[in-house]
Amino acid sequence: MSGRPVRVRIAPSPTGDPHVGTAYIALFNYVFAKQQGGKFVLRIEDTDQARARADSEQMIYDALHWTGLSWDEGPDVGGPFGPYRQSERRELYQHHIGVLLDKGEAYRCFCTEDRLTKLRLQQTAEKKNPGYDRHCRDLDPGASRNRAAGGEAHVIRLKVPLEGPIEFKDRLRAEPVVRDAKETDDQVLMKSDGMPTYHLANVVDDHLMEITHVCRAEEWISSTPKHVLLYRAFGWQEPEWIHMPLLRNADKNKTKISKRKHPVSINYYRDAGILPQVLLNFLGTMGWSFGGDREKFTLAEMIEVFTWDRVSLGGPVFDLAKLNWLNEQYIHELSPEALADALIAWRLNKEYLTKVIPLIQKRIKKLDEVIPLTEFLFSGDLDYAAVAADMKVPDVAPADVGKAMLELVEKLEAREGFTAAILEQETTAWYTALAWQKNHALTLLRLAVTARRASPPMFETMEVLGKEITRRRLRRAAEVISKAK
Ligand code: GLU
Repeated sequence: MSGRPVRVRIAPSPTGDPHVGTAYIALFNYVFAKQQGGKFVLRIEDTDQARARADSEQMIYDALHWTGLSWDEGPDVGGPFGPYRQSERRELYQHHIGVLLDKGEAYRCFCTEDRLTKLRLQQTAEKKNPGYDRHCRDLDPGASRNRAAGGEAHVIRLKVPLEGPIEFKDRLRAEPVVRDAKETDDQVLMKSDGMPTYHLANVVDDHLMEITHVCRAEEWISSTPKHVLLYRAFGWQEPEWIHMPLLRNADKNKTKISKRKHPVSINYYRDAGILPQVLLNFLGTMGWSFGGDREKFTLAEMIEVFTWDRVSLGGPVFDLAKLNWLNEQYIHELSPEALADALIAWRLNKEYLTKVIPLIQKRIKKLDEVIPLTEFLFSGDLDYAAVAADMKVPDVAPADVGKAMLELVEKLEAREGFTAAILEQETTAWYTALAWQKNHALTLLRLAVTARRASPPMFETMEVLGKEITRRRLRRAAEVISKAK
């Protein structure tokens, strides 16, 4: 690594809402790159077409830009190592898989799904670890090539050494990370549709993009031995490995953060009135310490004093109370002008008002009626005390109403797009399946989303409020309802 100009990257997959974990890893890569005078690259890993969502890539850019981070190279800004979107790099992966086949480091596997399923069942029955039995590993390369040329479906697997340690050094761990080759499957590198798997595409791209340090979340550390083998198979220089601790819920078991415990989308924090610089500051305190007990610092200050030595691996807790506390500190210190700007950037702007107005325009006589009528469109969490008694469905146990509401949240999450039409469609299907009356279902939703008995049209209101705040309110209301007697 020495001597090579620092180049780091984040490589999000566009599979849903932009995750705070992406901002967290982006922050550390960005800070390190800036400090070292290096480059920070954004690469879109969209080879899993089944999971990719059309709107997700743009949401990643928008959400990261909102935090204040920027990248030197990426699909949207270009750069000398492009394309930066994996779906546009298929020929490169094809070429490199050819290299591995020629070197005898990879092989074609013609095993059918059916055979693999039977194998798994047999292994489970015999209480063996499931894994590929290397049935095709020693096929004659010439014969294998001919079968492929004849159109026989196949995948391409890495020839993992049969035994011996696979070892690598992680910047944050004193001891080398060691994995026994015997426990490592002959990883699929290319799927039968000619698409690379994460492992192949990730390593080829990191190499071709001259990435010097791979800083990513700890959840990928189990993939790294396979990546190390790939670097060796190609004969390439490995990057330095840095696996950051996972963000944890503030629960007893410190489980990995999940949307069931609190929102994980960057957009939620934006819509809920967290200042972007505060989110970055907060993420900067996750696992890393500024020094002393200082928790409030700017991005520039973090860049100035940053070292990997101050990252500790004990799972950092993503504690909303702490985030809110930090936000409060910043808000109190802002000048009135700066706070006004923050409010304008948030929701007191023409763009948002233009969405709000159609909801109430026909219901007002004077301008001064707008704010009282729409105050729930400018709030985060609502107080349900005054309406909790009404949040029920006749003849349905409160716990079941709460559960049903969470099911609706899941349905909405699974669906791309958050428009009034989609919301109406999903909601109608939901209460119809439950055999609930429409007016009961809609009253329930209205109370959950607005904490009012009367509101502008429900689905339009939800659309304007946005999916993050709407979902958060539905989840909180579900909690309130479930606790009711
Ligand atoms: N595509 C992976 C992700 O979604 C990238 C992991 C890595 O940084 O290697 O996070």
